[in-house]
Amino acid sequence: MRTLGLIGGMSWASTAIYYEKINRGVRQRLGGRHSAHLLIESLDFEPIAEAQNRGDWDMLGNQLAESAQRLQHAGAEGLVLCSNTMHKLYGYLTDAVDIPVLHIGDVTAAAMRAENISRAALFGTRFTMSEGFLRDRLREHGIDLAIPDPERMAEIDRIIFDELVMGEAPVESKRTMKTFITNLEKAGNEAVVLGCTELVMVVKTNSNVLPIFDTTSLHADAALDWILAAE
Ligand code: GLU
Repeated sequence: MRTLGLIGGMSWASTAIYYEKINRGVRQRLGGRHSAHLLIESLDFEPIAEAQNRGDWDMLGNQLAESAQRLQHAGAEGLVLCSNTMHKLYGYLTDAVDIPVLHIGDVTAAAMRAENISRAALFGTRFTMSEGFLRDRLREHGIDLAIPDPERMAEIDRIIFDELVMGEAPVESKRTMKTFITNLEKAGNEAVVLGCTELVMVVKTNSNVLPIFDTTSLHADAALDWILAAE
């Protein structure tokens, strides 16, 4: 098994999902009491969210680069960054280390192409929805992502930052997301990409009116394949 480093805490609520999913996957594939050899650096999210709000991306990029170097020095042979938004800073990581960093957009695109989906609606933080760093990456794979109107965008962003990153998933937010997805289906959309690693806390992935591509799950699955590819 290869040793994987996770840069997490953005938020801890989604890092926990990655951790459980990867370990369950290793157990399922290797049997017995096997579990993944992981190194996790879980960061404190409050100062990160404040820096995102200030637009202090350069400082955040350097922080991620340092984290990546610590994980590589501690023995990580590959890295996963457990946040879509922070993939805005993907280049800082690849410049800082010489081990692979599995891009969340690439693994999502691969899963969508396997299902012949080339258009979908994107849900995520306001950064991920309104900026190009994730959408452009998927466009390189021939996939177009549409974003919600400003009102829905603000509500999704509020749910992420005021509830999900703190480990809370209120029923009202589950209802809101369900309504948004139903409206998308009525408007003729083909699929939805959950482009924020906490959104799966409030969206059912296998009993919805549209196919749902959950980046957390796809990223964790790719991490699992990578960990076991050395076998
Ligand atoms: N986990 C998040 C994401 O996937 C949001 C938290 C953050 O801003 O990093 O975008």
